[in-house]
Amino acid sequence: MRKSQIVETPRGPVEIPTGLLIGGEWVDAENRKQFEVFNPSTGLAFVSIADASPKDAVRALDAADSAQESWGKTSSRHRSTILRRIADGLREHASSLSWIISAELGKPVREAEGEVEGSAQIFDFLADQVTQQRGSYSTPPNGGFRIITTHEPIGPSYLVTPWNFPLLMSARKVGAALAAGCSVILKPAAQTPTTSQLFGHIMMEAGVPEGVANVIPTSSASEQSSKLMADPRLRKVSFTGSTQVGSHLLKLAAPNVIATSMELGGNGPFIVLEGADIKKAAEDAVIAKYRNAGQVCVAANRIIVEKSIEEEFTARFVAAVNELKVGPAHDPSVDIGPLASESQVCDVRELVEQAVAEGAELISEVTVSEDSGYFYPPQVLAGASREFRIASEEIFGPVAVVYSAENAEDAIQFANATEYGLVGYIYSEDVGMALKCAEELKTGIVAINRPVVAEPSAPFGGIKASGLGKEGGEGGIREFQNEKYIALAL
Ligand code: NAP
Ligand code: MG
Repeated sequence: MRKSQIVETPRGPVEIPTGLLIGGEWVDAENRKQFEVFNPSTGLAFVSIADASPKDAVRALDAADSAQESWGKTSSRHRSTILRRIADGLREHASSLSWIISAELGKPVREAEGEVEGSAQIFDFLADQVTQQRGSYSTPPNGGFRIITTHEPIGPSYLVTPWNFPLLMSARKVGAALAAGCSVILKPAAQTPTTSQLFGHIMMEAGVPEGVANVIPTSSASEQSSKLMADPRLRKVSFTGSTQVGSHLLKLAAPNVIATSMELGGNGPFIVLEGADIKKAAEDAVIAKYRNAGQVCVAANRIIVEKSIEEEFTARFVAAVNELKVGPAHDPSVDIGPLASESQVCDVRELVEQAVAEGAELISEVTVSEDSGYFYPPQVLAGASREFRIASEEIFGPVAVVYSAENAEDAIQFANATEYGLVGYIYSEDVGMALKCAEELKTGIVAINRPVVAEPSAPFGGIKASGLGKEGGEGGIREFQNEKYIALAL
């Protein structure tokens, strides 16, 4: 591997490509700039990665554009074989990948292992699905001619991912785009580019042709996206991250009418109704809230509990939270690692301090003993009002707020009182009641008696300010294709 750096991990050395992946080669940034990646468990830098300039981004688009035509014409069987090899490669490199995710993000290593396996499963699913894609042949109601429909790759695609799932988010986007026959330019988050570097290496090993997959980390995301999205050769942008940046990218997409998929922020309600299995609901709320230290777009942001069971639920929930172990992400016994960055810690602390000043009460007892790294303890707040800032903002940290509701109707009303609409969780043993609430929730995803929703074969995506389009499921590959209609005279 050219242009690489050896990183020591508790499972041995890992070789990280440090260049930009452009046209099948690892190359220096044109200005030779690099940027450092920090380990949130220690606050120390552990690797330096090439920092793509806007000129490098154009080089990547040149490569993607040159590779597009031939990749788009490959058979789906051929693409399926390559997708399967990527799944195999992810599993072969699972140990290094999970340690690197853990090192650059602070995700507990057990969770990082789950992220790697989940990413491999996305490629498994796409490898199966891509050979099953069909067009259609039909007659219009008034007869006279024939309608043929077929799908073609949309073209070079710009894939922008966040730091909270450095591999899974890349796998969703890159996998669907490659399956659809598109060449890609992947831009990882500046905080977590290392995982994408290894992922790029795995794609090359799996036989992805040169120029089809390009990886260009950068410290100047805004300049990069402005440059690329002004270029008419780019045909698609798929973004996961904040609503603010998503909205900005939608504006950049407008002049050239670039197709967009947007997975944005959330403010997920976790509703526990009378008659729920309270023990299970409390245990699951811990998973739905504290996975990845709450830095998850589908995290339970507002825990809304029917008044009659609030006391029992809260007691069980707080007891479980008080058992959570906080520590360095590489320790396999740790439940909650550090947050991804110092600014993330500041944001969460500020939100909690404001809620407490406004009258909320801290009812959990976990503290942090680490004296370095970006740690923040898991917390539970009660007594917050629906008008507090913490009720309307995405917390993106290990802080749960428990609200009480008069009844199911009141719970749903509060749940829907947000500009977001990604996910809602409902706990009730009355399936009819749970389904009725599921129909009323204004979200793209609803989970009933289940704390985890991501699944390659299911359509993941939000409505309202939470986004546009779906990743995974029946339509995931279609997000990267144009449907063509051919009218045939007979
Ligand atoms: P962010 O600032 O929106 O960043 C996400 C990605 O966009 C990063 O790669 C970032 O690069 C890049 N970016 C920022 N400004 C850009 C620009 N002008 N042009 C092109 N790219 C740009 O979000 P974040 O702070 O990293 O992540 C937290 C947010 O993401 C939360 O609101 C969360 O809800 C959301 N999220 C949503 C989902 C979902 O599936 N719906 C999943 C995960 C996270 P840099 O790293 O260089 O800033
Ligand atoms: Mg940001």
